[in-house]
Amino acid sequence: MSCRIYMDHAATTEMLPEVREAMEPYLREEYGNASTSYDMGVRMHDAIEEAREKIAWVIDAQPEEIFFTSGGSESDNWVIKSVAGEKKNSGKHLITTRIEHHAVLRSCQYLESLGYEVTYLDVDDYGLVSAKEVVHALREDTTLVSVMTGNNEIGTIEPIADIGAQLRARGIAFHTDAVQAVGQIPLSMMRLPVDYLSASAHKFHGPKGVGFLYARKNQDLSSFIHGGSQERGKRAGTENVAGIVGMAQALVIAAQEMPYTRGKITRLRNYFAERVRHEIPNIRLNGHPYKRLPGNVNFSIEGIDATALLVLLEEEGICASAGSACNTGQTRISHVIEAIRVPENYAAGSVRFTMGRDTTRRDVDACVDALKRCVIILRQG
Ligand SMILES: *Cc1c(COP(=O)(O)O)cnc(C)c1O
Repeated sequence: MSCRIYMDHAATTEMLPEVREAMEPYLREEYGNASTSYDMGVRMHDAIEEAREKIAWVIDAQPEEIFFTSGGSESDNWVIKSVAGEKKNSGKHLITTRIEHHAVLRSCQYLESLGYEVTYLDVDDYGLVSAKEVVHALREDTTLVSVMTGNNEIGTIEPIADIGAQLRARGIAFHTDAVQAVGQIPLSMMRLPVDYLSASAHKFHGPKGVGFLYARKNQDLSSFIHGGSQERGKRAGTENVAGIVGMAQALVIAAQEMPYTRGKITRLRNYFAERVRHEIPNIRLNGHPYKRLPGNVNFSIEGIDATALLVLLEEEGICASAGSACNTGQTRISHVIEAIRVPENYAAGSVRFTMGRDTTRRDVDACVDALKRCVIILRQG
C-alpha cells in the first residue's frame, strides 16, 4: 500500500519542485567539469561558489568555511577522523554521547581500534547532555568533543551553545552533528561557539547524496578524500554540481519559510502529543517536552512490538519509523531508547512520527485515530 500520510521526515524528505528546477540545467545541458578553464567549466565553478555563498549566508558563516560532501555520514566521518588525526600529538581522547547517530558512534569506535580513547556521555531521561558533565569528562589529552544538535530518534535539542562556550574557554575543538536541525531551527555560526557542523540536504527537502561540513576558519581539517584540488584541496573528486545547487536552493527556501513553518509544525507536534496522551492509555512521550525538534514525536507504548505496529500503520497508509531508519529489520531496542532508560515493558514499543512543512492537522488526526485502532488490535493480541 502506498504512503498516504508521510510521517517520516527524519528519515528523509521529498525534494521540492523548486529544488528540482534549480537542478535541471545541471542534469541536462550544463555538464561541464568545474575544474576546466573554458566557459562551460567556469559556469559550473560559478554555480558551485554561488551555492557555497547561499549556504554560508543561511548559517551566518564564511563561504570558505563550507565544504561539500556526500551527506551527513561523510561529514561526520570526515571531521571526527580528521580532527582526531591532526591533533594526535596533543592527545588521543575524544568525548561524545551515547545517543549520537551511528555515523558518529562508529567513527569513534573505529578510532578506538586505532588506540584512541572515547568517553560516551550518559544522558538524562529526556535525552539531554549537560555542559557540566562534558566539562567533568575533559582530560589533559582531550582533543575533540562531538555532541549532536538535535537527536534523530527522540528529537531532543542539546544545549550546544552552553557546551561550546565551556569548550571554547578551554580551547577544545567542538563538533555538532546538526543533520536534523539545519533547516528546522535557526543556527548562526557567528553566535554559536561551534567549530565544526555536519548537515545533509535530503533532510531539508534537498537531494540525496549531498551535504556539507562547516569548519571554522583556522580550525584543523585534513584532507579526507585525496586526489584533485576540489574543495580547497580537502575533498577531491569532481563535484556533484546538481546536488550542490539543489542543496543550496533547498536551504534558502527552508530559511525563508522557517518563521512560519517552525511554529506551524511545533503546534502540530504538540497537538499530536496531547491527543495521544489523552486518548491512548499507557503510552509515554520520549525526549524533552519542549526542548525538541519541531516535527518530532516519539512514543513508547506499553506491551506492544513496534515492528508489528508499523505493519498495521502501513496498512492504514501511514509511514512511520521504529528507532532510526538505519536499524530497520532489526528488532533490537535502539541505543537511544536504551540510553534514556525507557522501562522494559515499554521499550520494544517505541515509534517515531516526524512531521514536515506539508503535514496538516488532518494528517495528524488520521494518524492518531489509526494509532488508537492499531494499539487496540495489538493489545487484544
Ligand atoms: C540522517 C542523519 C545522518 C546521516 O546523513 P546522510 O546524509 O543520510 O548520510 C547523520 N546524522 C543524523 C543526526 C541524521 O539524522
